[in-house]
Amino acid sequence: MNKPQSWEARADEYSLYGFTDLPSVASRGAVVLTHGEGPYVVDVNGRRYLDANSGLWNMVAGFDHKGLAEAAKAQYDRFPGYHAFFGRLSDQTVMLSEKLVEVSPFERGKVFYTNSGSEANDTMVKMLWFLHASEGNPQRRKILTRWNAYHGVTAVSASMTGKPYNEVFGLPLPGFIHLTCPHYWRYGEAGETEEQFTQRLARELEDTIQREGADTIAGFFAEPVQGAGGVIPPSKGYFQAVLPILRKYDIPMISDEVITGFGRTGNTWGCQTYDFMPDAIISSKNLTAGLFPMGAVILGPDLTDRLQRAIDRIEEFPHGFTASGHPVGCAIALKAIDVVMNEGLADNVKRLAPRLESGLRAIMERSDHIGELRGVGFMWALEAVRDKATKTPFDAHLSVSERIANACTDLGLICRPLGQSIVLCPPFILTEPQMDEIFDKLERALKTVFAEVA
Ligand code: PMP
Repeated sequence: MNKPQSWEARADEYSLYGFTDLPSVASRGAVVLTHGEGPYVVDVNGRRYLDANSGLWNMVAGFDHKGLAEAAKAQYDRFPGYHAFFGRLSDQTVMLSEKLVEVSPFERGKVFYTNSGSEANDTMVKMLWFLHASEGNPQRRKILTRWNAYHGVTAVSASMTGKPYNEVFGLPLPGFIHLTCPHYWRYGEAGETEEQFTQRLARELEDTIQREGADTIAGFFAEPVQGAGGVIPPSKGYFQAVLPILRKYDIPMISDEVITGFGRTGNTWGCQTYDFMPDAIISSKNLTAGLFPMGAVILGPDLTDRLQRAIDRIEEFPHGFTASGHPVGCAIALKAIDVVMNEGLADNVKRLAPRLESGLRAIMERSDHIGELRGVGFMWALEAVRDKATKTPFDAHLSVSERIANACTDLGLICRPLGQSIVLCPPFILTEPQMDEIFDKLERALKTVFAEVA
């Protein structure tokens, strides 16, 4: 076999890239990384990039946190792997479940582990199907989510995801219903106030429930801030408008906190930032500060009791993954929660979020082609537009956001193109000088690209 020589060519020869702008990779080559230093990653050629997207929203403690690596090593030395079937599970798993319920907004609850956020959403859907059937409502199977939601890529979680790209897989599966995305700036109608927009979405929810039949709906899933849909915070009063409707029809509300969990929005949970109480929380990513593939379903009291009754009826919950509750993942998660909550990381997000917002707002105000800044805490998006007044986007074929991201990469800054926006979601360890480096490089990249396309 003749192996290609360069790292870039080797990557191309043997790797299938998911969610990748292939023309960019074809013309520029893949960036092959060897290690990280704080919020920076370093490639095979020794180039350093400030990763303003925390890897994939998850590396909140940066790329070389010693305490996390030591916790992993210690657990690998002590008990390197186990499952959580047959009534056998590791002490770390027991301790993590206690911890997750303790830091959750629930007064009590139970936890189930998966390997990813997608699987945690899948697991939650199966739990709902199972408990509704066990309660004599096997027809309660439909799942409500929103357009631009991102809940994962497995067949079920991709069906929950509200993105047209899933059509290539023949998804969504039947019974997955997508409601309007609560993005007032983009979807508000002429003359409609933000409050009226929220009320319109609440009416749409109630109309949908009545049209489909409340007794056919298993649950409603929402990210507190839509992440991979383009960092879209809810419109004003959104959760306060939809929650009473869900309660009225006895529809469980699941908060997908895979991105927003553990401090990203300035509070431990996004549901706390937006002041609502879900029936369950989906967690992943930050749960292990990105050091271990792991997801968790955290059930609140009502679903805990109902699921427990359903399980007791058949004396088993026939579900689980080989690595559910993996001891090393749990040991890392315990350390990650401690690091984020007690080593000043969550506080750093709270302290520096206003500075991040105002720096980005200043960039928007200086630019003729940034139409909206949106976000909260340490997750923000700048939306590129051809015309600020009319909100007209650039032609899609110009690939403006990809060009901006590439221009940033050339300057040693990683940020993410999502639709027509540029997303910034830095690690929680970010310092003020590093934040200034983001502002400086981002603004230079924006100027270069807008000069080319405007
Ligand atoms: N839910 C949300 C809100 C996410 O952002 C993601 C991943 N970006 C997922 C679920 C899926 O997680 P995973 O990629 O670990 O399957």
